[in-house]
Amino acid sequence: MLTSDQMRNEVIKYFLTSVPRDAAVTRIEYEGTKLAIYTKNPDLFLEQNQITRDLVSLIKKRVMIRSDPSIRLAPDEAEKKIREMLPPELSTHIYFDETLGEVILETDTPEDVGLQARSIGQQIAKATRWKPRILRAPAMESRYIQTVRQFLYGSPGDRADILRDVGERIFRTPVLEVGDVRITVLGGGQQVGRSAFLLETSESRVLIDCGISPGGRSGLNQFPRIDTRVIETLNLDAVAISHAHLDHCGFLPYLYKYDYAGPVFCLEPTATLMTMLQLDYIDVTGKEGAFAPYGGEEVRSTLLHTIPMKYGTVTNITPDIRLTVYNAGHILGSAIFHLHIGEGHHNIVYTGDFKFEKTRLLDSCASRFHRVETLIMESTYGATPIAFTRRETEALFSNYIKKATQRGGKVLIPVPAIGRAQEILLVLEALLSEKTIPEVPVFIDGLVNEATAIHTAYPQYLTAELQKAFEEQSNPFASDYFTPIRTRSQREEATAMKGPSIIMSTSGMLEGGPVLGYFREMAEDENNLLAFVSYQVEGTMGRKLLKGLKDVSMTDENGRAKIVQTRMEVEKVDGFSGHSSRQQLINYLRRVVPKPRNIIVCHGEPQAAESLARVAARIVPAKIYVPRNLDTMALS
Ligand code: ZN
Repeated sequence: MLTSDQMRNEVIKYFLTSVPRDAAVTRIEYEGTKLAIYTKNPDLFLEQNQITRDLVSLIKKRVMIRSDPSIRLAPDEAEKKIREMLPPELSTHIYFDETLGEVILETDTPEDVGLQARSIGQQIAKATRWKPRILRAPAMESRYIQTVRQFLYGSPGDRADILRDVGERIFRTPVLEVGDVRITVLGGGQQVGRSAFLLETSESRVLIDCGISPGGRSGLNQFPRIDTRVIETLNLDAVAISHAHLDHCGFLPYLYKYDYAGPVFCLEPTATLMTMLQLDYIDVTGKEGAFAPYGGEEVRSTLLHTIPMKYGTVTNITPDIRLTVYNAGHILGSAIFHLHIGEGHHNIVYTGDFKFEKTRLLDSCASRFHRVETLIMESTYGATPIAFTRRETEALFSNYIKKATQRGGKVLIPVPAIGRAQEILLVLEALLSEKTIPEVPVFIDGLVNEATAIHTAYPQYLTAELQKAFEEQSNPFASDYFTPIRTRSQREEATAMKGPSIIMSTSGMLEGGPVLGYFREMAEDENNLLAFVSYQVEGTMGRKLLKGLKDVSMTDENGRAKIVQTRMEVEKVDGFSGHSSRQQLINYLRRVVPKPRNIIVCHGEPQAAESLARVAARIVPAKIYVPRNLDTMALS
């Protein structure tokens, strides 16, 4: 890899010798993992393809030719010009990303714009010197997408400084040769929750995931064990976040409260979804009078430091580590990480949470890699044999619903906002329209509505079937049976409605959110059904109810303490999980190519992790670790 200084020299030489006209280059600087070249020569900016190709082959790095801010039209003037160029029937939001000199055209029909993109794009760039980027508008209203835009584009100076700084860090001259590779478990060792793994080489330090434990009651068992190594002394180069669930990213903004100022690598939907969950976490802890380890300012800072990635692309994240992200099949934007250390010195695959089966929402996860010496894998269901196929699971689920609604009961489905909620929406739509279950109204409450809206902005991450639906202008997450609940009075109406209905609400483990209000109203009627469709972490209310807890102390609508007696039917349907079943975990070990020589089993309760480790030992001739938190493994 060329270092910063070598690269700059090569680029300057190229512009002096190979580009015939006055290149009018004003600045050459990093833009995260890319190199941005600013020019006042408008033609150069338009003919960037050949130049970027030349430079990429010269310096082996992605290059962007950017217009110098001084030649760009003022945003309001540019917007006027752009609107004149776009077909009048096209509804388009226009944003300006001043950091990158890009104009974002957000439309319901990116396919239409896409068809004409080349000519319209050229025209826009020529007339305004802003480079157009076409995005899909969410098919449903989303407050959080607006917040994310505001955070990202609202303070261009900050973002530009961050991107430059990130590049300087990544492409610094390495001082030491790659020697040892060490992994320290800071969270997620023999437990489900607070995933956090510190990867150290002689040159760099990367934190992989930075979660909280949903069932934890004190800092010591709720947050990653950074307690032993204060963040400043951790001296992190980069953080990589596998997906947006809080047990993988809920502690991340805390790092920015202290000295960490480095990048966060994740997929683009993950950046949006995690911002939503982190802001909601502050909200929920505030309402409960509990301690949130950070505030909104740190969430904004986190987002400003994200470097969005795409599946399959290789990115330098430190001087000696390259990261490639693959589909994990778990939730929107979830990733399996491939970390290539040194020039082939060691390769690590970190599965994060993964699903080795196609679902209605997502394709099955990746299992083929270039090289793998160490596999770090989750084991959530490592000790839970599930006898049912996906088809049988849906049949079981529809039977529970059928029985409950036929006896006049209501069905309460607690869901985590992201992942299972959207999968269950697709399942319910199918069951209702095929009339497999009685046609009853479905009320959807809580953060689910926001999360679903975010899914509609990123269909390219979903299955081919869903992508096709979006291309044909139909939103597969909307249905005549579904009513989103957004206000208190709508909620009261839904609760008071006579006759059977289905209510889906957050949170998935009954640890807060509107689901608690519904539970309080519904629990004492034995005709009703509480149906769990996602994993219930030890210590959560959901887990306690599954274990048979009857008397639940709650507060009523006026805030007075009250004991609710659980008489409703309580069931769980495991097969919908976004995690691999025990059998799928085993299949993954059989199929993963090439075979690793080390396997680190994590993200599972002790029994689950150990049970999977025993099977793994029979399938792969590898050294197998089942570490606890704070264990360090030197990998070879
Ligand atoms: Zn997850």
